[in-house]
Amino acid sequence: MTNTVTKQILVLPGDGIGPEIMAEALKVLRLAIDKFQLGLELVFDELGGAAIDKYGVPLADDTLAKAKKAHAVLLGAVGGPRWDTLERSIRPERGLLKIRSELGLFGNLRPAILYPQLASASSLKPEVVSGLDILIVRELTGGIYFGPRETKVLDNGERRAQDTLPYSESEIRRIAKVGFEMAMLRNKRLCSVDKANVLESSQLWREIVEQVAKDYPEVELSHMYVDNAAMQLVRAPKQFDVIVTDNMFGDILSDEASMLTGSIGMLPSASLDANGKGMYEPCHGSAPDIAGKGIANPLATILSVSMMLRYTFAQPEAASAIEQAVSDVLDQNLRTADIWLEGMHKVGTREMGDAVVAAL
Ligand code: ATP
Ligand code: MG
Repeated sequence: MTNTVTKQILVLPGDGIGPEIMAEALKVLRLAIDKFQLGLELVFDELGGAAIDKYGVPLADDTLAKAKKAHAVLLGAVGGPRWDTLERSIRPERGLLKIRSELGLFGNLRPAILYPQLASASSLKPEVVSGLDILIVRELTGGIYFGPRETKVLDNGERRAQDTLPYSESEIRRIAKVGFEMAMLRNKRLCSVDKANVLESSQLWREIVEQVAKDYPEVELSHMYVDNAAMQLVRAPKQFDVIVTDNMFGDILSDEASMLTGSIGMLPSASLDANGKGMYEPCHGSAPDIAGKGIANPLATILSVSMMLRYTFAQPEAASAIEQAVSDVLDQNLRTADIWLEGMHKVGTREMGDAVVAAL
């Protein structure tokens, strides 16, 4: 049955490998829309360096208005050396931070799943990582990346720079809830990561997480200091199910977790508001070193499409079909360069996208 209401997806290909991987993800998305009669409409615009080139700013007001109107945003990646000489306030990354905070996307979901076909591509021993399936829930609009900052000149003439790490009770409460909700959907185990032995903000974090836990008696909650969590992630990652943590710790831990799975080119992410609206993007950046070469792995972006269909549009059937198609192409031994191993068939970005389309 065709859905009567057409919902919009704003597509922002971005910079570097962004447009290349997005082209493949859109083939898959268009096929899924058709096959599952999803009633979704695509609209397009620019973000980051591409927006600077076109509009003079990394996020134009008109683009932001389109993003607010849409039900979901699908993003490639932003940034690159071409714009690195610009003043920080107008660099591509500012556009990304602004769209996240303007849309209120405070909950960042970053799964780290090791496909069995890629077990030997992990940097850890197969027995340590085989079957790994963890979810990192990262707070995305608060903390040290958004706190008051300054660089001032001291009386002795040297400069002193300062960042601050503020969190309010309500900011902690809402991300803690996302963590518990995700734990309920999975294996009912949640590990909250902080640095409560040193940081005031982490002490409040821990206190509020404990309060929220009372609403989720079925979830087994543990706390861990971030330095220990960084160690445990490489020592015994399968002890974790869902991890909930702040903006900076989550940034670092999710990059670390991504390496357990073999390639950052495999990992999708979702950033959600309180109502299920979301922005979906691969965990990796714009990879300027391989941009334009047609070798980037499009699977992270294709899996981001799957997350979008699952979380924003409540289409688990279409989402699972895409995940199955990705698993099928891995079974066919097709590998982009980042996940290639001896004996496998090396393919480029477009061939990989076409193979997923064929499998779907
Ligand atoms: P950002 O600051 O935007 O997160 P970054 O500096 O962390 O960027 P990435 O752009 O994520 O870096 O790239 C890190 C490395 O991973 C690079 O060597 C890049 O070529 C590689 N890489 C990233 N994405 C992919 C992909 N989809 N396919 C293959 N290799 C990738
Ligand atoms: Mg990075």
